[in-house]
Amino acid sequence: MRNFNFNNFTDIRFGTDQIEAHLHDVLASYGQNVLLVYGGGSIKKNGLYERVMHQLPDLNVFELGGIAPNPKVTSIEAGQKMTKAHNIDVILSIGGGSVIDASKLIASAHYYDGKPWDLVLNTKIRQTLKQLPVVDILTLAATGSEMNKNSVISNPETHQKLGTSGPNSPVVSFLDPTLTYSVSKWQTAAGSIDILSHLTEQYFDQAENTDVQDGMMEGLMRTVIKWAPVALNEPDNYDARANLMWSSTMALNGLVRTGKENGWTVHGIEHELSAYYDVTHGMGLGVLTPRWMRFALNAQTEAKFARYGRNVWHLVGSDVAVAQAAIQATYDWIKALQAPTTLTALGIESNENFAVMAQSAVTLKHLDKVAYVPMTSDDVVALYQASMTTVGFE
Ligand code: NAP
Ligand code: FE
Repeated sequence: MRNFNFNNFTDIRFGTDQIEAHLHDVLASYGQNVLLVYGGGSIKKNGLYERVMHQLPDLNVFELGGIAPNPKVTSIEAGQKMTKAHNIDVILSIGGGSVIDASKLIASAHYYDGKPWDLVLNTKIRQTLKQLPVVDILTLAATGSEMNKNSVISNPETHQKLGTSGPNSPVVSFLDPTLTYSVSKWQTAAGSIDILSHLTEQYFDQAENTDVQDGMMEGLMRTVIKWAPVALNEPDNYDARANLMWSSTMALNGLVRTGKENGWTVHGIEHELSAYYDVTHGMGLGVLTPRWMRFALNAQTEAKFARYGRNVWHLVGSDVAVAQAAIQATYDWIKALQAPTTLTALGIESNENFAVMAQSAVTLKHLDKVAYVPMTSDDVVALYQASMTTVGFE
């Protein structure tokens, strides 16, 4: 286990009726001027917008709607202008990871006079800035953005989708599982795959004997594997939505990554797909993950894959048999969530960009050096190529 520092100051308000009980006072404790940030309108369709506004009659609420999935830097620029123009005291972020990611970067950009993209390219500048408090109401279980410092922001002009880390996570997160009843099957599946991927990225790691963290992750993985199909079939099953929501938060609030190396191989390779083709993040991960597992399974990693098979998938047998069966089980679970199983099914018809995408993933994430199993750009191209068909899995 490596040395680590761990803290996380996000105040979690989990469960129903927390909005009525606490939202107003939480926001008012930071000031009167609120920037409400939300996405494409799901909160208006499901009544959440009305419900929230009803709580805030005496606060000055300014609105920035229209944050797109894979949030674009232009939205951050718009938010930066608004926070400065209206002397915003606190950001109220209502949505999934895209909205919360955008809100956290807007919160930093408020204290910066240059272009927000500078803060994505150079996280060191961002770390020196103050950050407006962000209060969020999570509406989709997936990213963990509700309890971490990260944002992933896209710049379509340059085909870049990059992570940036700020000084603070949200100050308060409202996690009401009933708010996710209206999430579509597609997004429920994508969110669940994202949670599983966050766990596998941290579980398959060069740091050895991290039993505390690995044991927690195995429990979280079993939880997602169990409840995602239930949520898909019964969208308003409270226990399913509650377990997915708390798993999403726990998978990426920094706790299970303590003492680890943290390579994040598959996310690096997926971000290129989103940057070039604007695919749904979780769906890109769902296609890539089983292929990456096949790539990563070798004599050195076999024992860890076998542990994954036994403790997560309840498989029995020799190490090699269990390791291989666990990879197939991962693929089958993703397929059973009605997720695409190939890049072609995600709408990617040609391999024309694979070489440049692979080079970018290797460079940005240092995949040739710090990955669980190091990858060259040729390896990444081969991974994209293997993801075009179901050969080997069906
Ligand atoms: P999302 O992009 O925030 O939302 C996807 C879609 O779900 C949107 O169209 C949204 O509609 C809809 N939606 C959200 N809540 C809904 C609800 N309650 N009912 C109906 N529809 C709802 O999805 P996400 O998976 O949470 O976030 C993905 C982004 O987060 C990606 O850019 C990914 O790279 C990033 N990410 C961040 C982290 C991190 O640590 N910060 C980690 C992993 C991934 P509306 O827009 O209309 O609301
Ligand atoms: Fe993710």
